[in-house]
Amino acid sequence: MSFHDDCFVLDGHTDVPTRLWEAPADLGAAQPDRHVDLPRLRRGGVDGVVFALYIPPPLSPERGWRHALELHAATERALEPLAGRMEIVATAEDLRRSAHRGMTGVLIGLENGRPLTVPGALDACEKLGVRYVTLTHNATHEWCDAGTDRPAHGGLAPAGEQIIRELNKRRILPDVSHTSDDAVLHVLDVSKGPVIASHSSARALCDHPRNLPDPLIREIARKGGVVMANSYPAFIDPAAREADRKRLDLVLPTLLATEEAYMADPGAHWQERAQLFVDHPLPPVSRDRFVDHLLHLVNVAGEEHVGIGTDFDGIPEALQGFEDPSRFPDLTAALLERGLDKAGVRLILGENFLRVLAQAEAI
Ligand SMILES: [Zn+2]
Repeated sequence: MSFHDDCFVLDGHTDVPTRLWEAPADLGAAQPDRHVDLPRLRRGGVDGVVFALYIPPPLSPERGWRHALELHAATERALEPLAGRMEIVATAEDLRRSAHRGMTGVLIGLENGRPLTVPGALDACEKLGVRYVTLTHNATHEWCDAGTDRPAHGGLAPAGEQIIRELNKRRILPDVSHTSDDAVLHVLDVSKGPVIASHSSARALCDHPRNLPDPLIREIARKGGVVMANSYPAFIDPAAREADRKRLDLVLPTLLATEEAYMADPGAHWQERAQLFVDHPLPPVSRDRFVDHLLHLVNVAGEEHVGIGTDFDGIPEALQGFEDPSRFPDLTAALLERGLDKAGVRLILGENFLRVLAQAEAI
């Protein structure tokens, strides 16, 4: 525990802003209906956490951009009363400084770059302190192909190449979680700086298009980036992946049918939508299988290129033994037990991401 406390610990991807937009909550108090709250981040020794502004794929660029601003406003409102304990930060140096002061630093990401074609959106991202942009969500859009949809551009459209260059200029990391394999290669080719995968695990261990194959993991590492393992059971374990596929067939029609009503009045609809998943649970998957993915990433990419992006509060269920951020010390113990040395664990827990973030700042 003292070793864990001494490490800078970062969770590279959570969907807290969407939960706050659906229903405001006091993150300073226990929130048993959610994964992330300050007491559990503290117990888990988490120093930094990325809050992703998630844009649902059906939203037009204009509407999506308005939604991003709403999510950001909901986040600011929730953090206001926590000043001095939890704060939005923008740089690697800020993250370290707030950790030294005993605070939890919140870094802002944008999940689904579709709205970036809206005039002024790129500049506004820089002003809001957005530090990475996940280029797509589950659907291919005007300028980038998604891994879980039909490709339309062979990776990036010309407008997408331009957006990668604009992100580089603004010190914002391109994030290839959710994109197609061709798009990963295309982004690596165009980007002047490192590229991250903020919440993707290893396809060699669980064959899901959301996970990365070994050759792409190696390419991201070669360019100096970091692959941050996602803890969603359906991306970790083949049986859970199969159960998730069947579950999606059952729940997707209802999700699509209620999407408009949900966007207009999230407070009235989020619970019934969440219940769909509770009614069709995945088989349990243990933390050890997540550790398998982290060790595989280390073997393929090297320990300097691996991190953790849990996807907490964006996933309907979590792993057994890694249910929420309070369990990070157990993950540290498991990584040490499985043979990683302390220096390597320290890199994976957060130092790798800090290094990559600082590199983006130096472009
Ligand atoms: Zn995601």
